[in-house]
This record gives sequence, structure tokens and C-alpha cells, in this order.
Amino acid sequence: MVDSCPTSPHIHRVFWMPVPDQVPASGEAGDGAGVRAGTRHAFWGRRWDGQEAECKTVCGVVVNLDESSPLDWISMAECGDCRAEILRVRGEVRP
Ligand SMILES: [Zn+2]
Repeated sequence: MVDSCPTSPHIHRVFWMPVPDQVPASGEAGDGAGVRAGTRHAFWGRRWDGQEAECKTVCGVVVNLDESSPLDWISMAECGDCRAEILRVRGEVRP
């Protein structure tokens, strides 16, 4: 008796989030609030709800999401694997 089971996940909805490189927590003090290295990954869903810290990227990596700064959006490059996977799922891969 499954009456409310959405059988079609919103696989076409994605959102992008900057993900800083996972650096070991060694107290490398000194370079303060500089530009963080990282990659903008895509995630399936409508948006980040701000609750789940661990999310799986479209390219299959589990990362910790965090508040992002506008600088992250500018400085971090888009993940090519995520973009390729989105296009593949959507059937928009061009030869
Ligand atoms: Zn990715």
C-alpha cells in the first residue's frame, strides 16, 4: 500500500556549491582569510537545505558542505566531471 511514493527523482535538478579542498586540520596559521582552493561541484536536488553537512557530488565524491563566500564562487573552478555527468544523465552529451 504505497500511496505516496514519488517514483521519479528530480534528477534534472541540480545545484552547484563551492567545495573547498579538504585540508588536514593542521594549524597553519598565517595566511588568514585568503582565497581558498577548491572546486565547484554539482549536487542533485533543488538546493542545499543547509542541514546536511555531508553531501554526495554528482561526480560521486562525498564532501562536507559549508557556508560559501562570494569569493569561493569566483575563485573556484567548475568540476568538469560533474558537468559531464549531468549532461550524460540528461542525454545531452554531444559527440
Ligand atoms: Zn564534481
